Amino acid sequence: MSTSPERLKCLIIGSGPAGYSAAIYAARADLKPVMITGPLPGGQLTQTTEVDNYPGYPNGRTGPDMMEDLMAQAMRFGTDVRNGWVTKVDFSGPVHKVWVDEKTEIHADTVLICTGANAKWLGLPNETRLRDIGGGVTACAVCDGFFYKGQTVALVGAGDSACEEATYLAKLCPKVYMLVRKDEFRASKAMVHRVENTPNIEVLFNTEVTDVLGKDIVEGIAIVNNKTKTASKLDVTGLFLAIGHTPATAVFKDWLDMDAQGYLKHTPDRTVTKVPGVFVAGDCADHVYRQAVTSAGSGCMAALDAERWLALEGKH
Ligand code: NDP
Repeated sequence: MSTSPERLKCLIIGSGPAGYSAAIYAARADLKPVMITGPLPGGQLTQTTEVDNYPGYPNGRTGPDMMEDLMAQAMRFGTDVRNGWVTKVDFSGPVHKVWVDEKTEIHADTVLICTGANAKWLGLPNETRLRDIGGGVTACAVCDGFFYKGQTVALVGAGDSACEEATYLAKLCPKVYMLVRKDEFRASKAMVHRVENTPNIEVLFNTEVTDVLGKDIVEGIAIVNNKTKTASKLDVTGLFLAIGHTPATAVFKDWLDMDAQGYLKHTPDRTVTKVPGVFVAGDCADHVYRQAVTSAGSGCMAALDAERWLALEGKH
């Protein structure tokens, strides 16, 4: 016997700061939101340590603790938080269809897309292989750094994340090589100073990884200085990537406009997409700011936009 799909006023996809902020506002507006968390409940902040730049936390807060707080706040107002992954959508009709984990079909008047972004990789065959077998290649120092305590590791990247992760690893590892492909950092001065003031981080500028060595676990990396073309080997047992992120938007590609990198397009200063009733917020639609606080702000905007749209449509 087939049952008809669940019908909602408001479905939120993604559980980072944007998703939870949207949920708090939507729940308080009595939209009875359901949230589908995505594959990493809590989003990217669950993979970071101290968050010192979120207003209202004078002594900082860890990312995981902050996400627990946000979830508790969203649930306090009645948000129905469900673990799952949206695998298909159909935005062709007035009611938006969403499939969770390929099997559960949900219908919603409004969909708030807050899916965030995923880590980038170098694309080297041995990097992928060793990553997939858990052999010592990872994009999350905070998740995996513990396993490399007392070991020598390398980290690729030159942005704020790379600096943050390198200093995190330096607390666990006696030696951290930081591989920067240009002759300068991209990170903010404050973050670069943290790296420069950490004696066990050695920064190698103009340096790229050409191969990851080892059959079952990382036994070293092959590197090249891209100015002098000098090739060498670094004896490390872990390789950490911190080279940016790709927006998690592939599932929407047939329905929404996106830029060349996959960031979802929306009306300037609004969260409105070209599909009525579908709104976007957070890192999946922001390649400029990408901060927890800006994500939270846009999540609030998406919920307000959804509420107003429902009212105008006579649906709320
Ligand atoms: P970014 O996009 O800022 O930096 C990515 C870095 O990776 C760049 O330095 C880039 O090098 C390097 N890179 C990219 N591809 C490769 C490659 N194939 N090989 C080697 N290096 C590569 O990403 P982040 O994740 O660092 O930061 C994202 C956003 O989040 C930023 O806006 C950042 O400010 C913010 N952020 C803020 C934090 C805070 O305030 N506490 C903490 C972490 C992030 P190149 O410079 O040569 O292009």
